[in-house]
Amino acid sequence: MAATLTVFAAWLFAGWGGPAVTRVVDDVGSVVFSTFAFGCAAWAAWRTTRLRRRAWTLLAVGLFGWVVGDLIWAYQTLVVGTPLESPSIADAAYLLLPVGVLAAALGTAGARHLTGIRALLDATVITASLFLISWVLVLRDVFATSDQTRQALVVAVAYPITDVLVVAVCVLVMTTALPSHRIVLGTVTAGLTMVAITDSALVYFSARGQTADDALVVGWALGLLLVGASALQAARTPGVEIPADVERSRFGFWLPYVPLVIAATVGSIDLWRSSSATHVIVASGGVLILAAVARQLTVLVDNRTLLDVVAEQALQDPLTGLANRLLFTDRLNHAMQLRERDGREVAVLSLDLDDFKLVNDHLGHPSGDALLRAVGERLTGVVPRGDTLARFGGDEFAILIEGGPRPADEIAQRVIEVFDRPFFLDGEEVYIHPSVGLATAPPVEDEELTADELFQRADVAMYAGRQAGVGGVQVFTPDMRNVDRAELRTSQSAGGKRRRAPVAGIQLLGQLRRAIDDDELDLVYQPKISLSTGTTVGVEALVRWPHPEYGVLTPNQFLPLVRQNGLMGAVTELVLYRAVHDAATWYDSEHCDLPVAINLFAPSLDDLELPDHITVALEGAGLPPAALSVEITEHLLLANVRRAATVIQRLRDNGLRIAIDDFGTGYATMSYLRDLPIDELKLDRQFISPVLHSPRAAAIVRSVIDLAHALGVACVAEGVEDAATAERLREYGCDVAQGHYFARPMSADELRAHVQLGCSSAAIFPITS
Ligand code: C2E
Ligand code: CA
Ligand code: CA
Repeated sequence: MAATLTVFAAWLFAGWGGPAVTRVVDDVGSVVFSTFAFGCAAWAAWRTTRLRRRAWTLLAVGLFGWVVGDLIWAYQTLVVGTPLESPSIADAAYLLLPVGVLAAALGTAGARHLTGIRALLDATVITASLFLISWVLVLRDVFATSDQTRQALVVAVAYPITDVLVVAVCVLVMTTALPSHRIVLGTVTAGLTMVAITDSALVYFSARGQTADDALVVGWALGLLLVGASALQAARTPGVEIPADVERSRFGFWLPYVPLVIAATVGSIDLWRSSSATHVIVASGGVLILAAVARQLTVLVDNRTLLDVVAEQALQDPLTGLANRLLFTDRLNHAMQLRERDGREVAVLSLDLDDFKLVNDHLGHPSGDALLRAVGERLTGVVPRGDTLARFGGDEFAILIEGGPRPADEIAQRVIEVFDRPFFLDGEEVYIHPSVGLATAPPVEDEELTADELFQRADVAMYAGRQAGVGGVQVFTPDMRNVDRAELRTSQSAGGKRRRAPVAGIQLLGQLRRAIDDDELDLVYQPKISLSTGTTVGVEALVRWPHPEYGVLTPNQFLPLVRQNGLMGAVTELVLYRAVHDAATWYDSEHCDLPVAINLFAPSLDDLELPDHITVALEGAGLPPAALSVEITEHLLLANVRRAATVIQRLRDNGLRIAIDDFGTGYATMSYLRDLPIDELKLDRQFISPVLHSPRAAAIVRSVIDLAHALGVACVAEGVEDAATAERLREYGCDVAQGHYFARPMSADELRAHVQLGCSSAAIFPITS
């Protein structure tokens, strides 16, 4: 096409073949070049996608107007034989191009609202400025001496005005363009600028009554060629996309002000000097001022919204829309100040989702995000107005409770209940449970406390609860103060007890519910041996889940699920009835009074009906109360010690024995010994196994045995694995021992075989005494 253009230009300037021939070459050539540009733009629209396709389509429409204009012109001169009167229908067709270019530029100016309008206003400011300048300096004189009609003048002026607008818009678009778009945009801008210059030249010459047709036709052809070339270039890179939201460069921002300042100067000087015929200057000046003001307004509106967004984002968690750490800390500090002034209670609840990582790993991050949003929504429903619910990133949430009418522990309870219903993620029912820690700031007179300390306490309680692997709310107690949170964190993420435990929580839960409903859990029994006589003095019931795929699952593998999903009551019930039923078999048939111990979940001790419930079960099996004892795991951090003490007291009044399990592993060890009426203390395995080689462990074991005896409580050693340990414990005065050395947990049938022996012979187990 460049070669064609060269030949075309040479032909016209040389005038080969005389005026009639060049006339034909002129008109046909014009149609060829406009058709070329149109065809290329249409091709580019076909090849590209989305925003770029839209732009090229609009540009193609504008260029099609140019083709139509050229065809009308050619028909008129070649067929009709007389030149077109100005203005004509061809002008309307030609003016479709600037409309198309403006539409294309605005349509791609960016998705952020106002950006398109701002670009148009900028272009208007530039155009009005340039027009005003050229009016004062050139055009006024030209038109004063012109002999054209008024309409013809208006149409004639419409060309340079729209052209300036087009060029201005193109330059503005270029300032926002990515480097990868610059070649295409630069070429199209050069082409349109060429067209604009040629248009202006036409106006200038025709207003002066001169003609320069050949040069003009070549100018337009060159412009169209460049537009076509840029379209071909665009079609070569169909994959590149225009980003939805582009930032304008500083240059682009200030660009409209440059011509504005010059136009204002030129216009004012002119108004100052001339006394008449200033309406064009006043009119264009008016347009200029209006456009400039409107533009400033868009900037203001934009800045306002930006500020609002920034202010909101600074205090908001973007995912859930809840408060973020900054806002939470601020509110907490303020609440602590009010506490000092008004003596109001302040409580902080720290909440972390158990197994959130499982959701992320199994269902993907979008599901993780959806879960966090859903949790945020549910929590919003239970947090009273005026209290603050925040997300700190990850799966950490926090709630600030500022002494409203509802007590903090009640709100905490409602927070836990929010997780009773499953979440629906990706079409799957998912049960998620939180670890919740609660810390309350006591009245100021009792204790000075900073906001930071209060928050840390809630966090410590939460981690303590998580480590214990129990559901429910953990209330901070002073014993927890020494917990090293960093250590807890790493021990958990590095596959600590809770992380390793569930096989695959999400799928397993449904099967577990069914197993419980169908009474499919089993009990095994581990004998407890008297160290002084070597006889079996009791058995402990331990729950098992014979799983069809995974084999027999031990409590560590499924009790976390039980705790987290409110199945504790059902399991306790199952264990209780099964245990008393099994015990009845040896009480009746073997006449062997061997009591059975069951393990209780901590929340069972909040249940005031438990004692009656147990009594009913025992009576149903025809057993005396002494046939059953209960073990309470000490690290369960009983939320309500007073209530638990009541329940324990009633159980004892009914004739049951109470044991504190895993003694030495929890936080409230001593206070439980002081506050709870118990019969038996089970020293945790971790103190027993090193007793032979660690003097310190040995010292602790000895002292605890002595302490137990001083309190009138029997001492039981757990996890005795060899004869030497058993012997050492006996020397220390330990009453009873349990462990693999004596017997592994066994089925009820196996136990009956042992019991037959045990009840007839005093020393069935290898104990030297
Ligand atoms: P626990 O009450 O401390 O039970 C003793 C655990 O130590 C049992 O594990 C037992 O098999 C194991 N063990 C016994 N002797 C030895 C030994 O010499 N060496 C070693 N290394 N381990 C020994 P198991 O059955 O896996 O139970 C784990 C925990 O699950 C129990 O700890 C108890 O806290 C809980 N649990 C078991 N059954 C029930 C139940 O029916 N209800 C409730 N609420 N909790 C239960
Ligand atoms: Ca136990
Ligand atoms: Ca234990």
